[in-house]
Amino acid sequence: MDNKEIFNRIFPTACRYMRVNPLLVDEEFNLKSFKVFETLMENVRFKGQHEYISVEDLMNVDKELTGKSEDLSFYLEGCTEAVVFATTLGVNVDAYSKKLQSRDMSLAVIYDSLASALLEFYTDEYENGLSLGAHTFRFAPGYGDIPIELNYIIIDALSISKKIGIYKSSNNMMLPQKSMITFCGLGKEVAPTCAHCIRLNNCSLRKEGFRCYNS
Ligand code: SF4
Repeated sequence: MDNKEIFNRIFPTACRYMRVNPLLVDEEFNLKSFKVFETLMENVRFKGQHEYISVEDLMNVDKELTGKSEDLSFYLEGCTEAVVFATTLGVNVDAYSKKLQSRDMSLAVIYDSLASALLEFYTDEYENGLSLGAHTFRFAPGYGDIPIELNYIIIDALSISKKIGIYKSSNNMMLPQKSMITFCGLGKEVAPTCAHCIRLNNCSLRKEGFRCYNS
C-alpha cells in the first residue's frame, strides 16, 4: 500500500480527532494534510508485540484495578483467553511533533491526529495478520471505565519496555507518546457500541455527531 492509499484510509479518522467532518473538508486542507502525512511517514518506525494471555491472568495483573471495571468483565465475559497488543510509532514521531509545535501549531495538530490514526491503522493491520477467529473489538485502558493505570501494569507484566521500547513516563504518559496497549477477548464477536459506555449521557463526541471508534 503506498502513502496515498494509507492516507486515504486514515484521513477520516484523523478528521474525527480534529473534530472536522471529513465530508466537508476542502481540497486545500486535504493536500496540506497529505504533505504533513508524508513527513510523518518518514519519521515512523512501527513496532508491535502481542501476547496471548488467559483472561484470568489478565484480570490478575492487578486485581484492585481490574476489579473496578465493569466494562472489562462485560466485554471479556465468556472468553477464556485474550490477546494483549503493544504498538508504537517510535520516538522520531514525538521528536518531530515537538519541533512542529514550536513552528506551526495548526500543522502540529494535523500531524498529531494523523499519527494517532496511523497507529490505529497499523495496529489493525497487525491484528489482522494474526487471524484470531472470533474475537471482541480491541479496546484499551481508558475506554469506558477501564482504568488507564492498567497500561503501566501491563507494560511491566509483559516486559514491554524491554521488548519494544514503550515506557511509562514520569507524568503517567507512555513514551513514545504514539504508543498504545490494547486487548481483545477471544471466542466471541463483540463490536464497539456506545450502549454500554459510562459516558453515554454526557459524551461530547456524540453531541457533535462523532464516535470514539470507527463505525
Ligand atoms: S462515542 Fe462516547 S459514548 Fe460512545 S463509546 Fe465513545 S466515549 Fe462512549
